[in-house]
Amino acid sequence: MSKAFASQADLVEKKISFDKLSDNAYAYTAEGDPNTGVVIGDDAVMVIDTQATPVMAADVIRRIREVTDKPIKYVVLSHYHAVRVLGASAYGAQQVIASQDTYDLIVERGEQDKASEIGRFPRLFDAVESIPPGMTWPSLTFSGKMTLWLGKLEVQLLQLGRGHTKGDTVAWLPQQKILFSGDLVEFDATPYAGDAYFSDWPQTLDRLAALNPVALVPGRGAALATPQKVQAGLAGTRAFVSDLYASVKAGAAAGKELRTIYKDTHAALKPSYGQWVIFDHCMPFDVTRALDEATGFPDPRIWTAERDLQMWQALEG
Ligand SMILES: [Zn+2]
Repeated sequence: MSKAFASQADLVEKKISFDKLSDNAYAYTAEGDPNTGVVIGDDAVMVIDTQATPVMAADVIRRIREVTDKPIKYVVLSHYHAVRVLGASAYGAQQVIASQDTYDLIVERGEQDKASEIGRFPRLFDAVESIPPGMTWPSLTFSGKMTLWLGKLEVQLLQLGRGHTKGDTVAWLPQQKILFSGDLVEFDATPYAGDAYFSDWPQTLDRLAALNPVALVPGRGAALATPQKVQAGLAGTRAFVSDLYASVKAGAAAGKELRTIYKDTHAALKPSYGQWVIFDHCMPFDVTRALDEATGFPDPRIWTAERDLQMWQALEG
């Protein structure tokens, strides 16, 4: 029997954790489902990535209210993916902040991405009808670096290079050396690279590592609460991205077709990474994008619900 498309067969609910990393930093994680970061300053709360729907975001708000009654003033979007941004309306934040590159991607492909992601992973869009019509629009954009002061707590929003997407943004607490990485780093979860820049991603991870975080909240997977675990998360993500791209480039150089390269790469990576969540979901998208990049498409092509299914049929049918 062929594999069900993407994660349509993934129906098992995950256990949610809300972990305190410092007096100011919390991680809302769910066994490999998309994470949300929470920063509590002197006078305001910042949420980093929103969950996929307002109903799901309401559970984040419930956890926040167990530890503080300060207003949620800021929502930060680490990148444009629907599963990260479409819960934003629930927070009633004064500002929704993203990089200009992320804003541009929402303009260019936000609608297609929304339809595509909901089709790929229905379980991640609990109460999908609670998403307001249209897009989540940032109200504040920046390029490179933005610093916010939540009272005496400094929060830096940094673009350290492309990787998971063109617009990747990390949130950094320099006084405490705590990093919220978005999907640039995953832990025990397969990096999705359908919109990625494989050539850039490893050096972007080097720049994250150079910050020497003592704790890191990845895009998926458990919070990494020691420097050793942070390094393991960075190294694991770097190894996956590098191994996948090397395999695809070798196949392309040998003149192989996409379907063959996919089968070869899946077989090559499965022993090392097959136990990570969403491995089978991500691999077809990741290999397709990697082959594009290796063969002269510098920017990711737009995924539509139709293109998703055509690709899946071609590789898994
Ligand atoms: Zn993403």
